Amino acid sequence: MKNLSLMCISALALATVVGGCQSNGSKHDGGFKYSVEKFADVEILRYRVPGFEDLPLAQKQLLYYLSQAALEGRDIIFAQFGKYNLPIRSTLEAIYTNYAGDKTSADFEALAVYLKRVWFSNGIHHHYATDKFTPAFSQEFFIGAVKSLEPSALPLQEGQSVDDLLTAIMPVIFDPAVLPKRVNQADGVDLISTSANDFYEGVTQKEVEDFYAKIKDPKSKTPPLYGLNSRLAKRNGKLVEEQWRVGGLYSAAIEKIVYWLQKAAGAAESDVQRKVIETLITYYTTGDLRAFDAYSILWASDTSRVDFINGYIEVYGDPLSYKGSWEAMVNFRDEKATQRTQIISNNAQWFEDNSPMDKRFKKEKVKGVSAKVITAVTLAGDCYPATPIGINLPNSRWIREQHGSKSVTIENITGAYDQASQGNGFAEEFYWSEVEISRAHDYGFVTDNLHTDLHECVGHASGRLLPNVTLEALKAYSSSLEEGRADLFGLYYIADPKLVTLGILPNDTAYKAEYYKYMTNGLMTQLVRIVPGKNVEEAHMRNRQFIARWALEKGAADKVVELVKREGKTYVRVNDYAKLRTLFGLLLGEVQRIVSEGDYEAGKNLVETYGVKVDADLHKEVLSRYASLNIAPYKGFVNPVYTPITDGDGNITDVTVAYTEDYAAQMLRYSREHSWLK
Ligand code: ZN
Repeated sequence: MKNLSLMCISALALATVVGGCQSNGSKHDGGFKYSVEKFADVEILRYRVPGFEDLPLAQKQLLYYLSQAALEGRDIIFAQFGKYNLPIRSTLEAIYTNYAGDKTSADFEALAVYLKRVWFSNGIHHHYATDKFTPAFSQEFFIGAVKSLEPSALPLQEGQSVDDLLTAIMPVIFDPAVLPKRVNQADGVDLISTSANDFYEGVTQKEVEDFYAKIKDPKSKTPPLYGLNSRLAKRNGKLVEEQWRVGGLYSAAIEKIVYWLQKAAGAAESDVQRKVIETLITYYTTGDLRAFDAYSILWASDTSRVDFINGYIEVYGDPLSYKGSWEAMVNFRDEKATQRTQIISNNAQWFEDNSPMDKRFKKEKVKGVSAKVITAVTLAGDCYPATPIGINLPNSRWIREQHGSKSVTIENITGAYDQASQGNGFAEEFYWSEVEISRAHDYGFVTDNLHTDLHECVGHASGRLLPNVTLEALKAYSSSLEEGRADLFGLYYIADPKLVTLGILPNDTAYKAEYYKYMTNGLMTQLVRIVPGKNVEEAHMRNRQFIARWALEKGAADKVVELVKREGKTYVRVNDYAKLRTLFGLLLGEVQRIVSEGDYEAGKNLVETYGVKVDADLHKEVLSRYASLNIAPYKGFVNPVYTPITDGDGNITDVTVAYTEDYAAQMLRYSREHSWLK
């Protein structure tokens, strides 16, 4: 249950690397400029918040308070992702802002790019690959720049000199051997001592595993998410959990979050929502994981239009999946688009009953699948600047089973991806023929959203574990297998005529757009995110590759899917979509069996055989073709700026939204206004 990590970026890679196909497209939508800037492997976009202006004042006010609560936690994730992230960020910002030397020099420009990457990743490791960045500025330049500043501009701890600061952070920035990886998933080494996150201190993997094994009550039907909100450290030879709460670690930032949450509680839409917020405050104040469970149960039942996430939620940042990375997202329901996901959720039992998995693994009753389409208002922490496009919470399995969960698709974000990718040439380069290109054009956005909906609304909710089995049995493979299971569920059903009958797919061939995209992504194009010589490591990428490669291999005799060469370029050709669906169904049955039985060996075998290794020649080819398109493989967002308008008595009379702030300006402002940790 603990390992269950459900923030799904299921279609994120697809949405970001598969562009639209209008050759004459532009990056403007009614004059709205989506693209802000590009650096390294990243493009920064804006998103719109359609409908915000028309909300009642009370909801705007609530959204504003929750947004402030979201922004106040920014430093927490920097601190969680590495001990030195905050002093490094502050030092870089001090140089970026105050340096009196030549700001057009190659060194300074390289430092600016490095800082932009640090902002983007909430630290010095790549947000996705988790490898440490290599700075392109010299050590001499850095030392000189730091020493040229007033010491008061630098993040000096009590009693720390400028030289002390340099001694502490120089090796972390410049020595590739120091803290090289934020989340190490490599088989056969100590995953804790080789990971640079600050979730643990002075402990080994074995000690962590033993510690939590001992705490757990295997008979409990309602176990809390042990370890979720603390650092586990060895102090005087003893293991202790240092909680992230008021009065504990990160207290200064958490107090600010609580301040705004209190205002939000006063402006809540309903009693249930007020209770949700108050329970979250109790959790932040006490650190009691039972309070977090109480909050999650209330939150899952709250159907207010305004909604939010604020806390330690996903565990991808911890190789052992105990520790929650801090995140926040403030949003309101898109009433019109929500009708679509409602239809899916209303049919959850039909999907369960008709799915190609063994009866023993089916739920007799699928409970509490609530789904909605939302409009994001503010992104923060682990959701910023890179953000998921769908979320399914809470993560606690027993709460999901007994009290239900919420599943959301963030459509103003997927819409921004889609708009920004119009006319980028991706499909023309990688798709086999006009047929696939025009199908992607006609149905790509619709089917991409629908696949995400299916993944979130019914995919994760489907199936059950056999008694006494937990996802932890699958260890490091649990995320890949669970995400793969949800993806397969979506793939299997997106081709079902039922969806056309339900009125959520225009016709019975539209699904081919998603099949083609999924196979091309899993077999080839997602490799643009991998550095030459590396394996596939991130859980979602592994699941996409194992699904695609497995289907390629199992369908080889019938030529269901082929990799074909034309003029020296490799393409995916799907010859038999109906058979491909059958293969997805077969694999769904098998992955469900692995998950339900906790069959570690089979799970490991599946992921390692199909999901990890990279064909070096194909990789090279894909990278060079992709490079010719000049598309950034990763995208992230700046937030809109919300400003409360007040009357003479200080009452808020309106909240305005503006889309004017640029990336560096926003990051520097957040550091000025919302930085509480060192
Ligand atoms: Zn998922």
